[in-house]
Amino acid sequence: MLIAHKIALDPTNKQRTYFARGGGAARFAYNWALAEWRRQYKAGEKPSDVSLRRQLNAMKREQYPWMFDVSKCAVQEAIIDLGAAYRGFFEKRGKYPRFKKKGVYDSFCAANETGTFRTDGKRVKLPVVGWVRMRETVRFEGVLKRATVSREADRWFVSLTVDAPEVAASLPPQEAVGVDLGVTTLATLSQGEPIPGPKAHTALLKRLRRTSRRLSDKQRGSKNRAKAKRRLARLHARIANIRKDAAHKATTKLAKTFRRIGAEDLNVRGMTRNRRLARSIMDGGFFEFRRQLEYKARRYGSVVVVADRWFASSKTCSCCGSVEAELDLSQRRFRCSVCGFEADRDWNAAKNLEKLAASSAVSACGEERSGAVRKSRVKRASVKQEPNGNDELCAA
Ligand SMILES: [Zn+2]
Repeated sequence: MLIAHKIALDPTNKQRTYFARGGGAARFAYNWALAEWRRQYKAGEKPSDVSLRRQLNAMKREQYPWMFDVSKCAVQEAIIDLGAAYRGFFEKRGKYPRFKKKGVYDSFCAANETGTFRTDGKRVKLPVVGWVRMRETVRFEGVLKRATVSREADRWFVSLTVDAPEVAASLPPQEAVGVDLGVTTLATLSQGEPIPGPKAHTALLKRLRRTSRRLSDKQRGSKNRAKAKRRLARLHARIANIRKDAAHKATTKLAKTFRRIGAEDLNVRGMTRNRRLARSIMDGGFFEFRRQLEYKARRYGSVVVVADRWFASSKTCSCCGSVEAELDLSQRRFRCSVCGFEADRDWNAAKNLEKLAASSAVSACGEERSGAVRKSRVKRASVKQEPNGNDELCAA
């Protein structure tokens, strides 16, 4: 099983410069290959990542000698990524690939052959730059397969893919649970206590509002504006990391404890408005929670049952099953007009999701859709990189 562990780096200034160059080379190669792909396609040829890699290799000594300053894998992997993006597009899993912009998600592959890189406690040895300090040690035992260096605000991270042995699958002890994702609480469960939202969060959110207001005061193109922008990006990254960390703890526990986990459709969730929280953070947090839950479920042998988007988890009475016509968002308690049942709104929703999870037909592994029949989504087979300091993910 391939697991990626993303760790914050403490690079020297020289190493930082190299990382920026690596990211630049990867972006250049990606954009070059994308332009070339389009041109060749229009000319009636059949471009592929394999042929484009060969073509770039043949011309790079002449035309782009600076590419030799960075690990060759940075350039190669960028074109392989483009190939994957095109495959995703052809198989209707993703959008048509777009050109990469500087500073948006700078990253590059730093090593992919065994022996070219290794770790030693809190250090990782990468090609060209040598030993780089890491904030923590690799959490998983196994063969190191790949290293990707990426930037988040102004910090650098390395994501190490480890080929770890499978965990012995013993079935989780409890039957089913429903999970309602929230804003003030991270999640409300149908079994046990609600999981509170991360604490550090509230203060940071306040600061986020202030910082973004300050940004809008600054004159366009000024140095102060650039500075304020950097500060805002850092803050965004920090808040997302705090939420992600809290989600990791919760999802691991859920996947280890329950065999069937009912969750709501996030497309419905995305429409919920909340003034107190930047929407990007909130939506991102929900998707991240679900993503973690799904790969961990696969790992620990539980099943995530996703409610259909027409499943009214909030408006349905978890006691008698009747559906209320109206339920205002501000209404924190659910009252059934048929049987008189009353409960916390989120708990009622979680209970409905639990029932759904318990009643749906058993599938072999991973995600399952209930209600209207849908094609099961095809998961990307490759390992996707995660923007977080202590992350893990499964590429089953
Ligand atoms: Zn009722």
